[in-house]
Amino acid sequence: MRLGLAANQLHHSHDAAALFRWLQACEHGIRELQLGLHTVGRTHDAIGRVGRLADYAGLVRYPNGREGGLMKLVAEVVGMPEPGRVLDGAIYLIDPVDPSSVFPEAAALKRQCVIHGKPFISTVASARDWIEMERIHAGLVPDPAADVFHALQSRTLALIAHDAMKPQMLAFAAEHFDVLSRYAHRVATGTTGQRLNELAWSRGWPAGCAWAERYQSGPMGGDAQIADLVLARRCQRVIFFEDPHVARQHEADIQLLERAVTTRTDEAVCITSPRVAARWVDAARRRASLRPCPQGESACA
Ligand code: PGA
Repeated sequence: MRLGLAANQLHHSHDAAALFRWLQACEHGIRELQLGLHTVGRTHDAIGRVGRLADYAGLVRYPNGREGGLMKLVAEVVGMPEPGRVLDGAIYLIDPVDPSSVFPEAAALKRQCVIHGKPFISTVASARDWIEMERIHAGLVPDPAADVFHALQSRTLALIAHDAMKPQMLAFAAEHFDVLSRYAHRVATGTTGQRLNELAWSRGWPAGCAWAERYQSGPMGGDAQIADLVLARRCQRVIFFEDPHVARQHEADIQLLERAVTTRTDEAVCITSPRVAARWVDAARRRASLRPCPQGESACA
């Protein structure tokens, strides 16, 4: 497996910066998975400077951002015809107030990951969670340090789907109703929430009791309301099935939510594609059976 890797300047500017917090937590897992990290120039050089991933053949240097390093990642997420030029997704650790985080190539990187059903990983928490997910799928023993991402019974999950993606969201929720129901609390934008609640009631969820707490509809500001929960550390995971093929009237709100998630880089996880979301739930189910907590819930921290 190969991922593109880039981090905004703040996130590799000092020894305890976000990029290094991720590598400290996950270097072992990266080596276990033999994960290729195709890394934009300055991010690559910063990793070398702090002595992480020393002598690791999977760490490959790409050009600096100003020489097109991030653009090259976008093309390879899409896939180039030459051998070896296809990436399975990208980690882009975003500092929401770094102007380069809103450059067109940054938006295109996320968009092409969504279009091709590949992971787009923008926070330290998402990157840690992704490594643990792949470790579980690879049959490795659960890492206790990742329990925090699986303590569903004390966490809140946000579920949002654009209109064209609502059938996929409902299918996802129907298939994984058991795991999603383990969360302490679920929130959703208005229409998505209504459809999810109808599904839950049809599955025996108590009538009159909301499975997902509904906020405003997306175009009416629901994304901004859910962003506020993320900022207040009251929501730790956002599963957002975006429709990348249409112009969205509330594009600013959607980006606001994504920026809120990156503001809480160590705690908030965002999953943008149905394929990755299903893969995550499968891993969560498997991990809970390997590392149950005393209440019979998924792993305790
Ligand atoms: P909705 O909002 O669930 O109310 O449709 C989703 C969105 O468009 O962001």
